Amino acid sequence: MKMSDPQYLYLHVPFCRTICAYCDFCHTVYSQKASRLWLEALQREFGGRSVRRNLKTIYIGGGTPVCLPSAQLEQLLSLLDPYAGELTEYTVEINPEVMTEEKVKILAAHGVSRASIGYQTDDLNLLKLMNRHHSADDIEECMHMLRRNGISNISLDLMYSLPSQTMESLQGAVRRAVMMEPDHLSLYSLQIEENTLFAKKGYQPLDEDTEADMYEWICSTLPKYGFEQYEISNFARKSKQSVHNTAYWHYEDFYGFSCGASGKEGNRRYDKPKNLKEYCDNPLKEYTVHLEQSDMMFEMIMMNLRLREGLEPQRFLDRFGVPLADVYGSRISSLIDRGLLEFSGSLKCTEYGSRILNSVLEEFLPD
Ligand code: SF4
Repeated sequence: MKMSDPQYLYLHVPFCRTICAYCDFCHTVYSQKASRLWLEALQREFGGRSVRRNLKTIYIGGGTPVCLPSAQLEQLLSLLDPYAGELTEYTVEINPEVMTEEKVKILAAHGVSRASIGYQTDDLNLLKLMNRHHSADDIEECMHMLRRNGISNISLDLMYSLPSQTMESLQGAVRRAVMMEPDHLSLYSLQIEENTLFAKKGYQPLDEDTEADMYEWICSTLPKYGFEQYEISNFARKSKQSVHNTAYWHYEDFYGFSCGASGKEGNRRYDKPKNLKEYCDNPLKEYTVHLEQSDMMFEMIMMNLRLREGLEPQRFLDRFGVPLADVYGSRISSLIDRGLLEFSGSLKCTEYGSRILNSVLEEFLPD
């Protein structure tokens, strides 16, 4: 084990109870047989890979991790126990449709400290359109259940720019979410991805102006309720930023485990098979890309500029052994002159720059 081994681990559970109309994540409808084979494969994956014990964070996402019945959830978390002794954050994604008190107790017993709940909206018509089967009351009940079992660090995911969504509907959903007193909120605009039910039915997100108005409203409203925007789509109460996701934005290395996961270790980025059978046949299989130094420099800038705190030059120097200004000095000066970046101890986007981040990033692309 090297000191430089990743301190963060992502594990993907590729099952859901039902499939949401907008979702293109790696998932399949839960079946007992498939999940049994997957858990056996996962055990083989852990047996065949070397992972440091003193991880900082574990994040179990999906899919829907808690669609596993209690016994399988217990099995999954037991596999992770050897790595969970010194964590600062242990997150599991939660769908209230399949949550029970028994499952919450299992999560708590294994040290899970943070829950990320898919809330999306409180608008029942939109939830139906999205093929989601819960209400805002179910979210609230789920939060109570988590809190009374000691999992009190809770994040809610919301979506906006949904087909036919009005500004009033979004505002109602956000206000209801805030009233539930989460610690963290993530707000994502709908992207219609190929092979989703929305794409097949020809649904469209809202027009760009309405989407921009919604984003403006979100960014100007949430700070009034004590949620500081620390990333383009993420807002947190004091000290409640996601440690795991911040590691991604800091461009730290992380292990990726299971069907559909990705990982990055040094100059090696890999995707695990997305196909469940392929994964179960060979859980050690990875599709690997070797990154050039120039690619990694660009990716570090790309990820860090998503953060309000921006990129500290020292972090760049520590990573690559060369000053940021030596590599990008003239491009940075030009972007500062045009009002897109600013520098005050760290390099960050201005308000305007963050609205057109993709154009800013184009300027950093390797020649
Ligand atoms: S949004 Fe979540 S619950 Fe819905 S299909 Fe995708 S992974 Fe499953």
